[in-house]
Amino acid sequence: MLHIRKKLITTLAILLMFPLLFLPQSTEAAASADKAASKAGSKMIYLTFDDGPTAHTGELLDILDQYKVKATFFMLGPHMEQYQKATKRIVKEGHGLGLHGVTHVPGKFYKSAYSGLKEMQQANESLNKVAGVKTSLVRTPYGSKPYLKPAYRNVLLGQGGFHLWDWNVDSLDWKYKKDHQKVYNNVMQQVHNVKKKGTTPIVLMHDQEATLKVLPQVLKTLKAEGYQFEILTKNVQPVNFWDDKR
Ligand SMILES: [Zn+2]
Repeated sequence: MLHIRKKLITTLAILLMFPLLFLPQSTEAAASADKAASKAGSKMIYLTFDDGPTAHTGELLDILDQYKVKATFFMLGPHMEQYQKATKRIVKEGHGLGLHGVTHVPGKFYKSAYSGLKEMQQANESLNKVAGVKTSLVRTPYGSKPYLKPAYRNVLLGQGGFHLWDWNVDSLDWKYKKDHQKVYNNVMQQVHNVKKKGTTPIVLMHDQEATLKVLPQVLKTLKAEGYQFEILTKNVQPVNFWDDKR
């Protein structure tokens, strides 16, 4: 009797195991696939370069290309007009496209709720004229806080339909132009802190000569740590200092 019961339990156990072993669409398998996907996704990073294009953009693009990395460029209207070749190359090589306005002067850009919108629209016209494309991603000069108050955002994001991007990793590459180690440490420490909180790092850098000196070292380490470099698009939920997800 005991022997039969044991056999029955074994058979039952095998029968219960069966769907888990052989049906890939079981809830168990789906759950673990989700887990794997989010684990892979959690190693994503967004590099962003402001204030370009410049006379150094070609070299910057060469470095990105060398490491097979894509980034997102928040560009100034007059610079796109001045460095048309670089603007076209950014577009052609599949980097993310964003606007940074025209004047880069807070007193002008943030003069009224409409002055910022006008600058972004004008910069978009430059991008369209030079490279035949437009974008809806914007980063306002010096970041959106404290200048871009709710009434301003309602105009730029609501009326204008733009998506507002700030950052959560500040390289301070504009400040430490001679201290590359400092910039490297800023990026790596903040990336690790942001990651610990379970957030995707959005790194602020500048399209400038000094950044070219530290960029290879940054890319090398991030790649070695398994990061996947993605570009910002209108389909990515915006991250900004106001938590405005429009
Ligand atoms: Zn800027």
